Amino acid sequence: MADNELLAKSAVLQRLKRFFDVFQENMENYPYVVDLHTGVTMVARRMVEYFALPGEIVTDFHDLWKPLIYSDDLPKYESLLEEAFDSGSSASYDLEYRVKNSDGQYGWVWGRGSTSYDESGQPDFFVGVIMRMDWVLHADPVTGLLNRYAFEMDLKNVVERAEEENAAGAVITVGLDNFHILYDTYDHAYSDSVMKEIGVSIANVLPSHLNLYKLDGDSFAIIWPDVTPDEIAIIFAGIQICLRELKTMNDKVYFSASAGVVFYPESGYDTRALYRYSQAALQMAQQRGKEQLSFFSHEEYQEWLKFTNLQRSFEDSIERGCEGFLLYYQPQVDARTQKLIGCEALLRWQEPTGEIISPVVFIPILERTRLIVPVGSWVVNEAIRTCKEWQKYLPGFEMSVNVSLCQLETFDFHSVVEEALTRYDLPPECLVLELTESQSVSNWDFVNDQFDRFRKMGVKVAMDDFGVGNSSLGLLKNFNCDIVKVDKVFVDDILVSEFDRKLVKSTVQLCQGIGMTVCIEGVEEKEAYEYLANECDVDVIQGFYFGRPEPKTIFEQRFQK
Ligand code: C2E
Ligand code: CA
Ligand code: CA
Repeated sequence: MADNELLAKSAVLQRLKRFFDVFQENMENYPYVVDLHTGVTMVARRMVEYFALPGEIVTDFHDLWKPLIYSDDLPKYESLLEEAFDSGSSASYDLEYRVKNSDGQYGWVWGRGSTSYDESGQPDFFVGVIMRMDWVLHADPVTGLLNRYAFEMDLKNVVERAEEENAAGAVITVGLDNFHILYDTYDHAYSDSVMKEIGVSIANVLPSHLNLYKLDGDSFAIIWPDVTPDEIAIIFAGIQICLRELKTMNDKVYFSASAGVVFYPESGYDTRALYRYSQAALQMAQQRGKEQLSFFSHEEYQEWLKFTNLQRSFEDSIERGCEGFLLYYQPQVDARTQKLIGCEALLRWQEPTGEIISPVVFIPILERTRLIVPVGSWVVNEAIRTCKEWQKYLPGFEMSVNVSLCQLETFDFHSVVEEALTRYDLPPECLVLELTESQSVSNWDFVNDQFDRFRKMGVKVAMDDFGVGNSSLGLLKNFNCDIVKVDKVFVDDILVSEFDRKLVKSTVQLCQGIGMTVCIEGVEEKEAYEYLANECDVDVIQGFYFGRPEPKTIFEQRFQK
């Protein structure tokens, strides 16, 4: 029957309809009322339009509504509704599910409703309301998954309930390791479609009672009550397998994900903190490399906070011309004459409190964030300027500067060095570039090409930390350098170990035999120096015995002697 016919038949319905119209006008969501005696249902006008229902008054609402519900969500809907009708006056239904709209697209809705009963205890009315998730900002527009807003609401509800019941669970954030490559390479419509596929794949791996939420950027979240680390590890492995099977255009990009996990109540019941901790654990996982699963710990978090704060300070510092960074200089002496011939420039960071921070702490942060590139350029300029200044005390004075692999990989590193040499008028022969992480070089042709350009100009190239890590001999064969800096581990025990004495001696002979200059680092004692100079005939010594790294003004006092 059409709306008008039904209305004309019943004065009660007419009155009810007037009430309902005022009611629906004042509501953002879509209300509907089912008369359970007759089946006559009043549906909000905007709900009729949005879901293409046949009219505002219908007699068979549930038969019209059910076919619009996404098939996976239908069983849950039906069983909840049955409960709401069957189980007495307090029953209500409350469910998030997907419904097809007039465009044929499925969207998430949040449906709530309950039944009222008449004097004889018979079901009287069912009053329901449908909220569109995209309205209450629940659905992520790209993936259709629940979004960050929904995540925050659910997390609050789940954790509050857990606190009441003394229950446990986990918050997991999953981040894609290399999605940005796709995002930077292809158009956004394409990367959006891949993101959607990724969302579906991850959701499929999860147990069916869990929701997958899409957070900002390329991360997802899961709230998992009552779960063990092992269960999480299994699902995490499943996610990797699914992602690996997902290939993109031309099969060029393969995806992987890392995840951070925090457990409640171990880390408290404060939802904001839990979310922050899971994000931090994810970032820690990603810093460790790809496909990492990281469980939150307070100790690691404190470390991570320190790192993050430092990183922020570095970014500010770089904006202000590397203010706060300092160079210390450590003397290098001719092993035979003990005369000062040069120094190594060693970076320091000074906290606003005045505390000086060691490069062992912050160089890894600068490298990981690539901030070493601007800071490294500052080092080059500062060191070359100082070297030129000191040549007036000691002509030919040499300056060694550390270079990270990622500096070498930037297209303008060569011109940064060349311009600094010209600007401060330093002869290129007085500059030594030390490659600090030869262990991690995978493309020696590239590195040699880069350094050969410097060597042609007259700049010398050194291999730093020889003997640390594996296959140093292999490095000698791969790397075209002029100087080998033998690491402190070679000299630490030469005063107590005959073997170490023989080892360092043959190492020096080997390097010199193939035409390298040998500089020994970490010499702290007179006897060690004497053995190295007299028995091993090394070329250069750098170590605390001749001087620690010192600020510029202190180092300058050496020239007055
Ligand atoms: P490195 O290049 O091997 O520098 C030598 C390190 O050994 C310095 O530590 C120095 O203080 C220490 N050392 C020298 N002689 C002795 C000794 O006799 N005994 C002991 N116990 N230690 C000695 P520092 O200054 O803490 O620097 C650590 C590392 O940080 C450097 O190792 C280098 O890899 C890195 N670094 C420093 N400045 C820079 C920079 O400007 N750029 C890059 N990329 N790395 C840098
Ligand atoms: Ca060095
Ligand atoms: Ca070294």
